[in-house]
Amino acid sequence: MFKSFKIGSIYGIPIKLDVTFLLILPIFAWVIAWQVDQLVEMIDLIFGTDLHANPLEEGYMPLIVGLVAALGLFACVLLHELGHSIAAIRYGFPIESITLWLLGGVAQLSENPTNWRQELVIAIAGPIVSVALGVGLWVSVYLIPTAYNATIFIVAYLALMNLVLAAFNMLPGFPMDGGRVLRALLARNQPFAVATAQAARVGKLFALMLGLFGLLAFNFILIALALFIYIAATGESRYVALQAALEGVQVRDLMTPAAELDVVSPELTVDRLLELMYRERHTGFPVIDDGHIAGIVTLDDVRTISPEDRQHTVVADVMTTELETVKPDDEAFAALEQLQSNDIGRVLVVTDRGDLAGLVTRTDIVRSLSIGSVRAVRDIPAAGPEQAAEVDSVPAVEGRPRW
Ligand SMILES: [Zn+2]
Repeated sequence: MFKSFKIGSIYGIPIKLDVTFLLILPIFAWVIAWQVDQLVEMIDLIFGTDLHANPLEEGYMPLIVGLVAALGLFACVLLHELGHSIAAIRYGFPIESITLWLLGGVAQLSENPTNWRQELVIAIAGPIVSVALGVGLWVSVYLIPTAYNATIFIVAYLALMNLVLAAFNMLPGFPMDGGRVLRALLARNQPFAVATAQAARVGKLFALMLGLFGLLAFNFILIALALFIYIAATGESRYVALQAALEGVQVRDLMTPAAELDVVSPELTVDRLLELMYRERHTGFPVIDDGHIAGIVTLDDVRTISPEDRQHTVVADVMTTELETVKPDDEAFAALEQLQSNDIGRVLVVTDRGDLAGLVTRTDIVRSLSIGSVRAVRDIPAAGPEQAAEVDSVPAVEGRPRW
């Protein structure tokens, strides 16, 4: 997803529009407008209605009908996402946001369930909403007076699309709901990570078939979708494998304790700091002022300072003061999520009282992962040291989307 902006909130969940949504909405409206006569034929056939294409095809009517139908469709997608969200909230998982974008809607859970029943209910809640909407709209078609051609057209179109949406979402690949349902069912009697790996394999196979079909049919939307599913399946299994490899490891187990850390003062000049970095082979230091944590300074912070300015620029001028921190007894995985989602190399470990307890770097986590993978459950494929080396490229840790 690219840039998104908030348009409001429902049940305290921020609803966002991605810029790609603004692109797809008129395209959708236009595609519907363009196919009005075929759609009328199809609706008459399926619903046994007697719509007249002519009034729907006159003047701006196709575009108006197309736009209303497209908006209605995205409203239905939003309700589908709300279905997931409300189920998740019921189990105590807060929702960060619901975003409408190019490929539909995405509900972002701040944390994902590892209990198969909860996963199952949350995953299936969206398609259930879509089926309910589809059936409700289907019945409504027969309640609208026959003179309202355009209204019947839109309601019938949305009834069909909701059912298509539910069916499509039950396809067995991440990040679609069917992938999660499959994983939940596989996780009934085996570890979550193993179930994820199996579900991801099914998803990848499915993505390959979809991609092949898309190529043969010259359908670029299918190809894009296949690629998206393939990447999501890979990310999902890696995410869970990492989680499994770090299972039971706390931040304190892998951090460099404060006593062994080199810290710098905010008054240190940048040229002295660079000397220290070179000597100690560390590219980031906590900044301590009078016993308190003042910030963190890294090589990136000083990169832009020209050599002649380094003598009269001090650490306080360049350091980062908005700090991402973890606590010593947090799960190590939480530290990894911090590093990934903020794209930083190190995170400070701070006690409840606000004192510096230590520092966790990506290297610390990679080391722990290598050990964890040897120790971890057999059958978890993606947790090997070769994956540990890829910690830098774990896209899914940024929070996994849910359709
Ligand atoms: Zn869904």
